[in-house]
Amino acid sequence: MHADLQRVLIDRETLAQRVAELAQEISGQLGQVGEITLVPILTGSIIFVADLIRHLPIQMQIHLMSVSSYPGTSTTSQGVTMNHALSGVPDDLAGLHVLLIDDILDSGATINAVRDELQARGPDTLHTAVLLRKERPDLVQPDVDFVAFDIPDAFVVGYGLDFDDYYRNLPDIGVLRADVIQRAQDRTSPPTAEAS
Ligand code: 5GP
Ligand code: MG
Repeated sequence: MHADLQRVLIDRETLAQRVAELAQEISGQLGQVGEITLVPILTGSIIFVADLIRHLPIQMQIHLMSVSSYPGTSTTSQGVTMNHALSGVPDDLAGLHVLLIDDILDSGATINAVRDELQARGPDTLHTAVLLRKERPDLVQPDVDFVAFDIPDAFVVGYGLDFDDYYRNLPDIGVLRADVIQRAQDRTSPPTAEAS
């Protein structure tokens, strides 16, 4: 286990097995449409998508979409920003069967914003898949069509998910130690009146 983790939540073997299973669920539902258009949300979904598509024997195109909501060392959403300059999704999605893919569903603000954006471009169908869905009984999350894992409400990293753009390369998904988060936030926060 990486020293900055408090615990591993989902290990690499479990991830591999469940991602393959999820691909079967997706094939079962979308395999008949002929061709699908994947829209992965950067950057967190890259590892998930890389593993998922190799289990999907469906003709597909991939168009990336860049969205950020947790800039820097924040561990709560700071509002959804779409980086249109970095996105390669066609303006017109008529005739296409789109599968929107994200790493994690928390409040649902990201999925909602991107789904609205894609829906406005007129796809024939629009489905959604997420690797993780956080249990948030305090709010109403949007429905998603495919979910690999439901997880407790903790800040997780690894397998594509980051903290301050680090840890994406960890092969397991784990909960980051609170003191690691605190130290990074102390380093990046502006000096307080006392300190200056
Ligand atoms: P939502 O918009 O649903 O509140 O949050 C979804 C986005 O926030 C995800 O695309 C992801 O980038 C980020 N996010 C939410 N929870 C976590 C988490 O526990 N760890 C990491 N690394 N990112 C998260
Ligand atoms: Mg994300």
